[in-house]
Amino acid sequence: MPEAVPDRPSRELLPWQEETWRHLLDRLSSGRFPHALLLSGPRGVGKEQLARRLAAALVCESQEVMDRPCEACPSCRLSRAGTHPDVHWLAPEEEGKAIRIDAVRDLIGRSALTTQARGVRVFVISPAEAMNRAAANALLKTLEEPVPSSTLVLVSSAPHRLPATIRSRCQQVTLNSVQIAVAAAWLKKRGTSDDEESALSLAGGAPLLALRFLEEKRLEQVMRLVEDLGALKTRKANPVAVAAHWSQMGAEKVLDGLRRILGDLLRLASGQTLRLLPPDAGEHLQVLMKNINLRKLFDFVDELNRLELQLANNLNGAMLTERMVNAWLATTRAEKR
Ligand SMILES: [Zn+2]
Repeated sequence: MPEAVPDRPSRELLPWQEETWRHLLDRLSSGRFPHALLLSGPRGVGKEQLARRLAAALVCESQEVMDRPCEACPSCRLSRAGTHPDVHWLAPEEEGKAIRIDAVRDLIGRSALTTQARGVRVFVISPAEAMNRAAANALLKTLEEPVPSSTLVLVSSAPHRLPATIRSRCQQVTLNSVQIAVAAAWLKKRGTSDDEESALSLAGGAPLLALRFLEEKRLEQVMRLVEDLGALKTRKANPVAVAAHWSQMGAEKVLDGLRRILGDLLRLASGQTLRLLPPDAGEHLQVLMKNINLRKLFDFVDELNRLELQLANNLNGAMLTERMVNAWLATTRAEKR
């Protein structure tokens, strides 16, 4: 089953970035990597993701530069955890707010400190156009006198909003917009849904943005399922109507949604925090959990596993959703004394 919501930001190489990536590694292996890089391109094509990967490659300890990040060395492990001491990331304190001069000065200050490992340091500012004028001016000073063995990566989907003096001191790397067919194929692989094309057009062709739209829409659907489960439990909903509604939603999607819900229900039951559903779903899940025998909950999981097999055998979707409803009713039925 595809992992729909990654726990932490990804630095997977996206298929449409491969050429740019090879070019970057070529520069790195030839020892001609620029001190300052401006990574630009439209919103939602994965610029930050590429910057994260680039930062990991720059601090990676592998001698095989073209295979970086190697994912095996100590530096790569730190990068993966997001705790590499020589990778510094600067973003606005809140989305949509400006990056202020104090933050840039702080970053520059850190570039003057001695490094932890191999003397390589990476500074990423994203989105770079969020810097206000004073912040940009402070940064300009560093660009005029680059610190040896440090790399500055500016990420921007609006590079024209950066002062020309900054742009001219950076090597520009541009990610172009992604062909719809390539983006749709990638989205399909993520197992998001079957309306990739409409999400892509809504996102102006930007695959990562489209993925977010699809994820949000799917979360909405899952929350509808949580409501349905609650109404079934309290016997306020008509099981036949719910089964019909689920059948319309598609047995596969319902099954996937129920699995997410159960995953978090079981997490909740063992005192952990939610991972698949938004935090505000917690209250609803508490209601679902109330008075439910844990053993019965596992029976429900078993039944979902059986139904998944039958789904793979192309069994009638309407019949499957009816069985899902019945299994949940059995789970929530009060024990007879
Ligand atoms: Zn490595």
